[in-house]
Amino acid sequence: MSDLVVRHVGRLTTWAGPRLSDAAVVISGGVVEWTGADRDLPTGLSDRPELDAEGRAAIPGFVDCHTHAVWAGSRRDDVAGRLSGTGYNPAGIAATVAATREASYDDLLAAAALRLTAMRDGGTTTVEIKSGYGLTSMDEARLLTVGRDAAAGVGLTAMTTYLGAHVVPQGREHAEYVDSVIADLPLAAAAGAQWCDVFCDDGAFTIDDARRILIAAGEQGLGTRIHAEQLTNTGAARLAADLRCASADHLDHVTAADAAAMAAAGVVGVLVPVASLYTRSQRWSHAALLRDAGVTLAVATDCNPGTAWCESMPYAVQLACLAMGLSIDEALRAATLGGAAALRRTDVGHLSVGARGDLAVLASDHEVDVVAHLGANAVWSTVIGGQPRRASAVQP
Ligand SMILES: [Zn+2]
Repeated sequence: MSDLVVRHVGRLTTWAGPRLSDAAVVISGGVVEWTGADRDLPTGLSDRPELDAEGRAAIPGFVDCHTHAVWAGSRRDDVAGRLSGTGYNPAGIAATVAATREASYDDLLAAAALRLTAMRDGGTTTVEIKSGYGLTSMDEARLLTVGRDAAAGVGLTAMTTYLGAHVVPQGREHAEYVDSVIADLPLAAAAGAQWCDVFCDDGAFTIDDARRILIAAGEQGLGTRIHAEQLTNTGAARLAADLRCASADHLDHVTAADAAAMAAAGVVGVLVPVASLYTRSQRWSHAALLRDAGVTLAVATDCNPGTAWCESMPYAVQLACLAMGLSIDEALRAATLGGAAALRRTDVGHLSVGARGDLAVLASDHEVDVVAHLGANAVWSTVIGGQPRRASAVQP
């Protein structure tokens, strides 16, 4: 946790008030102490390390609240298959599970660290990481540990999620496997998981399975979230509302009634537009439906090998705007404050005094260029807890 003064931010977005021009951010012990016009910078800071943004824009660091960042192997055949018309491959997850079980701890850690470094370089400062490619007690606990260790190694703030209920592994009987997921909840918590998630859909787990698992998770002190209405409408978003889950994620097939229930229960709707694109669902209208129902929105990458191999929050924001129709401020807010809400954190996703000193200094002097300039490197430097983690010379 560092001290830093970020100076000459051309346009500073804090979400704590109007945008500031030629702004500065004072970070003390990793926490925002002051923001304001650079010319009004408090005195007595001359011995602080400085990062001169040279007129670039800055926003709060991205909070990527839905990733499956720890895996081994490749799913390139799924991508190629979808493009030759074979559709979603439900056996794909099993292929990743096999490769991930085979991999050593060190290989998994190295692969995850590369992905998390790419996330960080794209402006992500907080990340949620799910297990779900182990599907045995030991393998799931190992993935949770790898995720936590990999994030710590690259300086990201991480929360980990137990996703034993990702698919029923090959060779296991459905009901017996659901029982074992519930029995393993204390092990997952001991391995550091703060959250429990269930993939509730055709070919995965039923509403009844999800209800049992998530209620048991709550009893173990884990927060709850759910993969909902991705491939079909199963009632998972309503279940999230009934159980007051922190988030329901995907939601490609959500209905207006589901959205109203989510809004009333305070369930955050996590949009994962990269997955919608990657699976060629051609479904984008759920974003506006959720927004219009008053659901708090988050945008996440869903980084995973089969349906969203993408570490970039700027890319997710681009799709949230250009495909889903959110405004740029709606998408940026969803990718920062919304992600924090999905993780029930108040210390990240904004730059109010007292928040973590996490920000993305953009490559451009205007935040609109995150969306306007496709395929470019949107971020010049990612500051985490007052420490600049990268400073590239890339210009838009
Ligand atoms: Zn997912």
